[in-house]
Amino acid sequence: MPQPGTAEPAWLTDGFDHIWLPYAQMKTAPRPLPVVASCGSRLMLDDGRVLIDGIASWWTACHGYNHPHIAAALTAQLAQMPHVMFGGLAHEQAYKLASRLSALLPGDLERVFFTESGSVSVEVAMKMALQYWMNKGVAGRLKFLSFRGGYHGDTFATMAVCDPDEGMHRQFAGALAQQVIADLPRDAASLAALRDLIARHRNELAAIIIEPRVQGAGGMIFHADDVLRHLRALADEFDLLLIFDEIFTGFGRTGALFACAAAGIVPDIVTLSKALTGGTLPLAATIARKHIFDAFLDDDAGKALMHGPTYMGNALACAAANASLDLFERDSRLQQVAEISAGLEQGLNPCRSLPGVKDVRIMGAIGVVELTQIRDRRILQRAFIDKGVWVRPFGNIVYLTPAFTISADELGQLTSAICDVLSA
Ligand code: PLP
Repeated sequence: MPQPGTAEPAWLTDGFDHIWLPYAQMKTAPRPLPVVASCGSRLMLDDGRVLIDGIASWWTACHGYNHPHIAAALTAQLAQMPHVMFGGLAHEQAYKLASRLSALLPGDLERVFFTESGSVSVEVAMKMALQYWMNKGVAGRLKFLSFRGGYHGDTFATMAVCDPDEGMHRQFAGALAQQVIADLPRDAASLAALRDLIARHRNELAAIIIEPRVQGAGGMIFHADDVLRHLRALADEFDLLLIFDEIFTGFGRTGALFACAAAGIVPDIVTLSKALTGGTLPLAATIARKHIFDAFLDDDAGKALMHGPTYMGNALACAAANASLDLFERDSRLQQVAEISAGLEQGLNPCRSLPGVKDVRIMGAIGVVELTQIRDRRILQRAFIDKGVWVRPFGNIVYLTPAFTISADELGQLTSAICDVLSA
């Protein structure tokens, strides 16, 4: 084993010339850290160092890494049948998962369409919304209303509903469908402005799409559940569909299992991914209410939803998702989220008085320190690694979204590292 930080494994040296990394300028991108094993909230590096993970692999590993219950379910499913095509063939894991998701979601959100990534589940939600109006014989409803600060994915339809100015896809504006982008209605004046905007576009809008409670990748910006209730009321008033993108917020992250249920709202379509498989395999779901599904039922085959990703309903991924739901049923995950929330509140509190800190905010198992400016993210990142924690700042924020199973001691090490690095 090499000395800490001294050498990298040959597979990284050789492979680096053939890899294209996410969200990275490859000319200057620092070497990623070689991880050789994971366990609970810890990542083991090739050189023997161990990092406490504050991000849970982009918010997926909600039960911690290598949970034995999910591992056992995957092993059993692998031996039995890893995958079969979803067209014309059925298997227990996907059908069971669809029933369980519909039972967990509020109201008549009861039809589940599986895909393999969050972005594609949003694409499917958008396609469902467009075709809903087409199937009902209503022409011209071809646009979406989305919000500044929002992020819904990296594919072309989803890029068009991301924040067009601050978002990372702004250079593609000319190649994207023009959507209607609004400010979140946070007070009476902005609510009235949104109502006017919707009234002006009412005949061309198919749906409103929002990340409920937290705009995640757009900067971990929180809003109150009232905002969501206003949107439901506006959607009803102007006969628009309402899509909740719960890819980040779903499965307990904000303190409730789903943001829509916590807000007392039944959106017309919901998208889920990220923590769906407990951070093991790619899987996403688009869940529609009965009236959406019913609009596709017809003797005319042309009114069917023409979508079907090759790995749709992958049996391994669905087995992992079922095992993850077992853990939500069996263990007190939401209680753990409440405890993490209190730990984040206490642990990040000292940051409030640090120079350069604009805001400290906590919701559920999300802790955010917003700075006025991060001059060099790399220096910050290296300082965190030196402290033995994996924290990945973006924009002007440093944030924590740990596994719900993280210990109080590990969480304390994460928050102390943030306080120490930011004060230095
Ligand atoms: N929607 C939201 C709210 C997200 O946070 C993300 C990813 O961060 C996506 C969609 C896209 O998901 P994926 O990266 O799996 O395509």
